[in-house]
Amino acid sequence: MRPEVLYPLFKPVDTLKGVGPRLKPALERLVGGHVVDLLWHLPAAAVDRRHQCKIAEAEHGALCTLTVRISQHIKPSSPTRPYRILCEDETGTLVLTFFRAHSDYLLKTLPEGELRVVSGTVEHYSGEIQMTHPDHVVKVEDIDSVLKLEPIYPLTQGLSQKVLAKAIHGALAQTSELAEWHDPALMAKHGWSGWHESLLKAHNPQETTDIDMLAPARQRLAYDELLANQLALALVRLGMRKTKGHPTKGDGALRQKVLDALPFTLTGSQLKALGDVISDMESDHRMLRLLQGDVGSGKTVVALLAMLAAIETGAQAVMMAPTEILARQHLKTIEPLAEAAGVKVALLTGRDKGKTREALLENLKSGTIQIAVGTHALFQDDVAFQNLRLAVIDEQHRFGVHQRLELAAKGQAVDVLVMTATPIPRTLMLTAYGDMDVSRLVEKPAGRLPVKTSVMPSGKLGSVAEGISRKLDEGARVYWVCPLVEESEKLDLAAAEDRFKDLKKMFGDRVGLVHGRMKGKDKDAVMAAFKAGTIDILVATTVIEVGVDVPEATVMVIEHAERFGLAQLHQLRGRIGRGHGASSCLLVYQTPLGEVAQKRLKIMRETEDGFVIAEEDLKLRGAGEVLGTRQSGLPQFRMADLEAHKALLTTASDDAKVILNGDADLKTPRGQALRTLLYLFERDAAIKYLRSG
Ligand code: ADP
Ligand code: MG
Repeated sequence: MRPEVLYPLFKPVDTLKGVGPRLKPALERLVGGHVVDLLWHLPAAAVDRRHQCKIAEAEHGALCTLTVRISQHIKPSSPTRPYRILCEDETGTLVLTFFRAHSDYLLKTLPEGELRVVSGTVEHYSGEIQMTHPDHVVKVEDIDSVLKLEPIYPLTQGLSQKVLAKAIHGALAQTSELAEWHDPALMAKHGWSGWHESLLKAHNPQETTDIDMLAPARQRLAYDELLANQLALALVRLGMRKTKGHPTKGDGALRQKVLDALPFTLTGSQLKALGDVISDMESDHRMLRLLQGDVGSGKTVVALLAMLAAIETGAQAVMMAPTEILARQHLKTIEPLAEAAGVKVALLTGRDKGKTREALLENLKSGTIQIAVGTHALFQDDVAFQNLRLAVIDEQHRFGVHQRLELAAKGQAVDVLVMTATPIPRTLMLTAYGDMDVSRLVEKPAGRLPVKTSVMPSGKLGSVAEGISRKLDEGARVYWVCPLVEESEKLDLAAAEDRFKDLKKMFGDRVGLVHGRMKGKDKDAVMAAFKAGTIDILVATTVIEVGVDVPEATVMVIEHAERFGLAQLHQLRGRIGRGHGASSCLLVYQTPLGEVAQKRLKIMRETEDGFVIAEEDLKLRGAGEVLGTRQSGLPQFRMADLEAHKALLTTASDDAKVILNGDADLKTPRGQALRTLLYLFERDAAIKYLRSG
């Protein structure tokens, strides 16, 4: 149960004074629906209003706070003219101007003859010293509310600084100090204050340096968030570890048959990774290992051999993919090899219905099917296994941690091998998976040639057709990737269809089209035709990003390459350079090219190393976005910045380990405080892993 002290923080934002139905949606959009979400919305900058001056000293363009006497209101002669208010001090006259002003309001806030403090940007304009729409007007006794560093919050449409700041202050008023969850030594080392004090300080900067990501108050809050993340992951992991694993010791016979049937030998990386996996499986711990390898690095074979190790002991294995295309691709790779070893493989997707599905489920339950390959359809309640020992999950970050556990729950102490083709930088790895064991495939299979990548403005697109035609004569197959149009599938499709028509005029029936809106069957048919070579130009939206393996495809054209993120470009390009032929990738961009897009294309030209690309991507885009919006399994941080707070993340990871080593049930006073921390950052799910509530 959530601790009572946190109740006010988890009320809807409109329970705050001054936040009504009009403001609520804007706040929800910007920060979230609960009071606590406002606390995490820290200022992005601060405006220094501490500069007090006399009218004559106020320079053009300067932000000034002035104490002036109101001398005269001059109402506009026509509604399009500004309302003017003359003010003075002993050095001169300041003219306040207001457009479309309400005179009643102005007469009330700036009464003639009285002193007022005004703060805003001063302009020298046609011989006058002016201030248009002052940011603040207060009475002299309230000068301290203006004379300070004013935090500037990131905004959204329908919100103003003032209104947002007021809501945030309303939220801050709901907070009080909480029992300290951090190690006192760590706090002393960094000079951190308590949670409440840090929170107030972060929202009320005293010095411009208080806005800095590395200011103590900000660091402390970032660390709270990171520790909650790491502790939650560590708890889940500990929970999995508590259930003892089955030592899975196969005799190697099936593996040997497949190794004999392979037309190649495994790379050093593959052997090493397989060794890691097998020793995990043979131990009596449960395996939770990530197999990370660039597209085409040969993860599937490693996974297959691991599955065979389970099957050698009479157990079953599953391999789950995020899309149907990818599941089918895996089946195609695995089935012939498994058959060579006499192992029965079946596919289970959402497309199977009625009798077919029933029969499949029956065979899974009886153990007749030894390897099941499929999509999330494998999660469904009625899917049961006779003796599931290993779950391989491909492209993990598209699934939640939750789903990973659900699949693992379909057997007893199921070993889990997660495969990802997205090279995740180390920092992100830690936040997404915690302290998970990792094997990396770093070598490309032998015989692969590097992909030559070039860049070209769209104005020259006409000349590309000629080059393509030559490549086709040489027997190449070509992917033609159409642009993303503003995240709209419909528009994406229109662009792809137009391009398809153009290319068809030139190349006739050799051109095919595949896109996300096609029925699974139709998609498969087009892909099969491309694989078989009956079509040799495949126009595609980004559906080909994942999983398609056509070694004969050696050319890729990517239109509007500037619209794609680095990770996505890398994934797309990974579709070529998979066979023995030399491959080329052409990145076509629309001018003018922005600075970031320019850098991205440069990186793509310079390297094929997925890990380098991922690190660069992290630098260019910031961590939250690196894996794209669709891949949402990754946590988004509100206060922690993975570039600025990199070192803190590592500390949090170690801290979490130390904490659970000494107090696995979070029962000590510090443990209790840490529970509050977990609730504060809504890691409630992790708390379920604690033995006692
Ligand atoms: P990934 O899943 O990592 O993208 P795959 O396992 O699909 O890569 O392998 C890509 C291609 O490389 C497949 O056609 C596979 O048969 C082949 N392959 C895998 N390992 C090797 C190897 N050691 N040598 C040569 N080819 C390999
Ligand atoms: Mg693969």
